[in-house]
Amino acid sequence: DMCHRRLKETTNLNYMVHNIPSQLLHKHARIAEQSYVKGSSKALDGIPVAFKDNFCMRNIPTTCASRMLLNYKPPYTATMVEKVAQAGGIIVGKTNMDEFAMGSGSVDSCYGPVVNPWNFALNLQGQESILDEESSLSDWFISGGSSGGSAAAVAAGACLAAFGSDTGGSTRNPASYCGLVGLKATYGLLSRHGMIPLVNSMDVPGIVTKTVEDSAILLNAVAGHDVRDSTTVQEKYAPFEIDDTFDVSKVYVGIPREFHTPGLSPEVLKLWKATADALEQAGAKVAEVSMPHAKHCLNCYHVLCCCEVASNFSRYTGIEFGLRCGSEESTEDLYAESRHHGFNDVVRGRILAGNFFLLRRNFDRFFLKAQRIRRLISNDFKAVFSSGIHFLLTPTTLTDAPSFSWFSQKDNRTRSAEQDIFTTAANMAGTPAVSLPLSNSQRGLPLSLQLMGPHFSESRLLSLAYWLE
Ligand code: GLN
Repeated sequence: DMCHRRLKETTNLNYMVHNIPSQLLHKHARIAEQSYVKGSSKALDGIPVAFKDNFCMRNIPTTCASRMLLNYKPPYTATMVEKVAQAGGIIVGKTNMDEFAMGSGSVDSCYGPVVNPWNFALNLQGQESILDEESSLSDWFISGGSSGGSAAAVAAGACLAAFGSDTGGSTRNPASYCGLVGLKATYGLLSRHGMIPLVNSMDVPGIVTKTVEDSAILLNAVAGHDVRDSTTVQEKYAPFEIDDTFDVSKVYVGIPREFHTPGLSPEVLKLWKATADALEQAGAKVAEVSMPHAKHCLNCYHVLCCCEVASNFSRYTGIEFGLRCGSEESTEDLYAESRHHGFNDVVRGRILAGNFFLLRRNFDRFFLKAQRIRRLISNDFKAVFSSGIHFLLTPTTLTDAPSFSWFSQKDNRTRSAEQDIFTTAANMAGTPAVSLPLSNSQRGLPLSLQLMGPHFSESRLLSLAYWLE
C-alpha cells in the first residue's frame, strides 16, 4: 500500500471517461453528510466509487467505450449504481474499458488505452521509477481488462472502490495487474439489471478494492435479490462476514493440475508454490486435484461468448438508439453501415463467429457441444468441492502486467488471451472467485493469485483471502 500512496500521477492514465455532473456529486455528498451528522450512517457514506462504462446511469453517458453508443444516455439506472448510492456512496465517474467488455487489456477502447498507474509507482528497490522517461512516453504497462479503467482508478487513488464486470475474468485480470483485490461473486448474487450484457449467462458485476475488507463491505452493500433481474437468487446470503479468527488449519485447498499451463511465468509459479507452502505450514491440507475439462475452458468460453454476443448485439441497428450511418434508402444498408462504423474489429469478429456457430448446420457441432462441455467444466468444480476440498488456489494471470508494445503484437494477443483459462472456468460454473495481490515481480509490478470456492461461499472465501492478504 505504500506504493499506492506514493503513486505519482504524472500523466493522463485515461481511466475515467465520463465525470459525474457536479450537481449530482454534491447531492450525493450532502445526503451522505446528513446521514453522518444525524448518526444514521450507512455502509458507504462518503465513499467515492466509480463504475465501468457499461453500467447504465440515467441521463449520463453510458457508452461501453464504443462509437456505437457515444451518444447514448440511458433512461434508467443499474441496480448496482442505485444500491451504492442508497448506501451513501458517491459515484465519481464512469471508467474506461475494452469496447463492450471484450478483451483483457483495456487497449481496445474508442477512448484509447488505459495506462497502469504502477508505471509511476516507485519500485520496491527504491529506484525512482520503473520506466525511464523515454520509455514511459513510447511504452507502458497495460492495466489489464476489460475493466482496466476501474482497476486503474482505484490503484491511482481516484476512488476507494470501483465496479467492473466479469464475464470471463474482466474484473480479476485488471485487479491482478494493478495490485488490487478483484471479486467475482457467485452468479445470481448481484443484480445485472442495467449492466449492458456481454454474455448474459456468465456476466457478473465485479468489485475492485484495495483490501479484502473493503471488498466485503461493498459486497454487502449491493448483494441480494432484485425483481428486475430474474436470475438473482431469492435466498438471503448477506451479510458476508470476514472471520478474522478463521482457522486455516481446518481448510482443504486444492491445486488444480490442469492449471499448470505453458506460458506461466516462473515468478507466478514461484508465488503459487510459496503460497501453497504457507498454507500448509499454517496447518491447511493442500492437495493436487484434477479438473479434467479445464483444458477446454477457452474454446468453450469463446464459442458460447460469440453465440450470446451474436444474439445480444442484434439490438444495435442504429434505428432505436446508437450510431446511425449510411443511406436511409435501404434498411439493410443502414444496419450494415452503422454496425461497420459503430463496432471495432473485435466486436464485429465475435458477432460474425457467433452467427456462424448458430447456423442451422453448425448449431449442434458448436453451440450445443459447447454447452455440454460447459456442464462438464461445472461438474469438475462440483466433484472437487464434494470430495472435501474447500477452496482452489490458482494463478489469476500468467505474468505481471505486460507492456503495451508486447500486448499489441498480434501473436501476443492470442497468447495473452490464453490466460483466461484461469478465470473463465468460474464464469462457466457460476462459482465465486477472488484475485489477490500477494507479491511483486522483479520489475516491481504486482503479482496475484486467485482463490475459488463453491457457490455462495463468499464469507469463507473472503476470510481465507483476508488471512492470506
Ligand atoms: N477476456 C475475455 C473476453 O474477451 C473476458 C471478458 C470479460 O470478462 N468481460 O471475452
